[in-house]
Amino acid sequence: QSKKQGKGACTLFNQQMHEQAVKRLQMEIELRQAIEQQEFIAHYQPIFSLTTGKLIGFEALIRWQHSQKGLISPAEFIPIAEETGLIVPMGKWILLEACTQLKQWQEQYDHEHILQISVNLSSKQLRDPYLVQEIDKILTHTEINPQNLKIEITESLLMENFDTAMNILLQLQERNTQLCLDDFGTGYSSLSYLHRFPVDILKIDRSFVMQMHSGNNNLEIIRTIITLAHSLNMRVIAEGIETESQLSQLKSLNCEQGQGYLFSKPVPQEVAESLIKESLYSAL
Ligand code: C2E
Ligand code: MG
Ligand code: MG
Ligand code: MG
Repeated sequence: QSKKQGKGACTLFNQQMHEQAVKRLQMEIELRQAIEQQEFIAHYQPIFSLTTGKLIGFEALIRWQHSQKGLISPAEFIPIAEETGLIVPMGKWILLEACTQLKQWQEQYDHEHILQISVNLSSKQLRDPYLVQEIDKILTHTEINPQNLKIEITESLLMENFDTAMNILLQLQERNTQLCLDDFGTGYSSLSYLHRFPVDILKIDRSFVMQMHSGNNNLEIIRTIITLAHSLNMRVIAEGIETESQLSQLKSLNCEQGQGYLFSKPVPQEVAESLIKESLYSAL
């Protein structure tokens, strides 16, 4: 009997695997078309200073505007884009898009160039030999100050590609762009490694912020991350701030910057623009 069941389960498993493979292939084909037909858009999530309450910039987050399925979130397509290498042209696109957008905002509203833009890089991009050259081109073309560009890479990506990452990051440091370590706390950085990388900002992963209340270990973890960051001369962004209580605790721990649904979800360009107007032109 158990043998029978096993066999049945096996067939089912194969069938499921087959369906998955077909879905994946379909997705790959659609992704290729989407790149050609420029179906991607950028949304922007505002980042605020927790000390002044002011808007300091945005994180650009890619979205796929699918002709039939509507807006698709990156969790659904980034893994396949990554596997197939399609993330490289997609990543170039969003980098150019985000920098071009920042330039336009600077010309329209942000004459003092206060705002910064953050762009996520994936591991395939980090291993693309033309990455730095592409970034140079984009910086030259858009004429934004490299200091206003924040590159985000995840802690685990950094640790898995140690030498490649170090090489690229040192080149970017020469350009004066800023480097953020994304999803910090979820990887396994050894502290002795961390200080060797030219990291400007640690982004505390949302999972810690979500569960911070007094008496909880996460509060102590966050306190430790912030102390560590400051001792290494880095600043801290907390991601995923959803409640006033999280915000006030983060403030009391001297966390400098934050983003999260409490302030705003990632929004389309025109909504981001109204946030800029509100922030830069309010009660000076
Ligand atoms: P991430 O870089 O850590 O981005 C933050 C994610 O957390 C975003 O999800 C954002 O919408 C979400 N988030 C922000 N605040 C809150 C909050 O208060 N509560 C909750 N529940 N979520 C919040 P999103 O846009 O779906 O992106 C997911 C991930 O996909 C990103 O994580 C990043 O790793 C990747 N990604 C997004 N855009 C790009 C891109 O252009 N290039 C690359 N390589 N990866 C990207
Ligand atoms: Mg990020
Ligand atoms: Mg993050
Ligand atoms: Mg995260």
